[in-house]
Amino acid sequence: MTRQAWVNGVYVAAEEARISPFDRGFLFADGVYEVTAVYNGQMVDMERHLDRLERSLRELKFGTMPNRKELEEVHRRLVADNGVTEGYVYLQVTRGAYGQRDFVAPDKPKLTCFAYAESRALIDTPHARNGSRVISVPDIRWSRRDIKSVGLLAQALAKTEAKARGADDAWLVAPDGFVTEGASSNAWIVTKDGEIITRALSNMILAGITRHALFDSLGQQGHKITERSFTLEEAKTATEAFTTAATGLVTPVTEIDGVKLGSGKPGPTTRGVQKLYYTAIGADVSKAAPWVNE
Ligand code: PMP
Repeated sequence: MTRQAWVNGVYVAAEEARISPFDRGFLFADGVYEVTAVYNGQMVDMERHLDRLERSLRELKFGTMPNRKELEEVHRRLVADNGVTEGYVYLQVTRGAYGQRDFVAPDKPKLTCFAYAESRALIDTPHARNGSRVISVPDIRWSRRDIKSVGLLAQALAKTEAKARGADDAWLVAPDGFVTEGASSNAWIVTKDGEIITRALSNMILAGITRHALFDSLGQQGHKITERSFTLEEAKTATEAFTTAATGLVTPVTEIDGVKLGSGKPGPTTRGVQKLYYTAIGADVSKAAPWVNE
């Protein structure tokens, strides 16, 4: 089946989709995006993703907002028409194209909107089963990481370096030695006493939707989460660690810079968190992820 994309109100075959090279998204990374998970053919936390999209646009003073009802409909239709039962929808909004390169943004931009859906395993992946090995790299990003900007060069370089060094992913470390987040995820550690720790929200990290959902799920179970910063050194002495993101959901981290955490295998707290989150998005864990109980 030809993959379909949605560009400025029109559904087209993905290969036919066209955007001007004068688009401010291309010239200045003047745009934002969202990636929303799809499970059982349903969008996961779509309203929170759209809330965050609108916030990102407001923070960048876009002045014009895409039509929310239309975006909701586009998500549902891309999922249905492309037969996605498990995967994600990518949505990008930029400040548009004006046939010239001008740093100064227009007051009333003519937005460029682009979306597509893709099938992909989210739950039963090698990393979710066996964990991922991460390297640390300096966090060289700008200081508005709370905005989900398409300016992802630092993250792309970090992940490329991780691959070149035989690792699976990268964690970003600020000059003060504290971990900010994963290259495309929020970072969590678990102490030997089972305390679950993740960095507090600020301009230094993205307010992950999966992170937010875990606060809800863990809270309902009476589990406390400690929101505080931790250093790379502390992370390396943690018994467990994991990351959260719409595409990786809850991914165990078993190694940081070659240092094995705990047993070197996904630990019981992380397995419990995976089980909780998979159940929250409607999975039958005994079928979809029997390995969480092993
Ligand atoms: N931090 C960064 C830098 C990310 O790119 C992502 C994933 N887009 C996240 C955190 C996790 O956010 P979410 O749970 O909303 O996918």
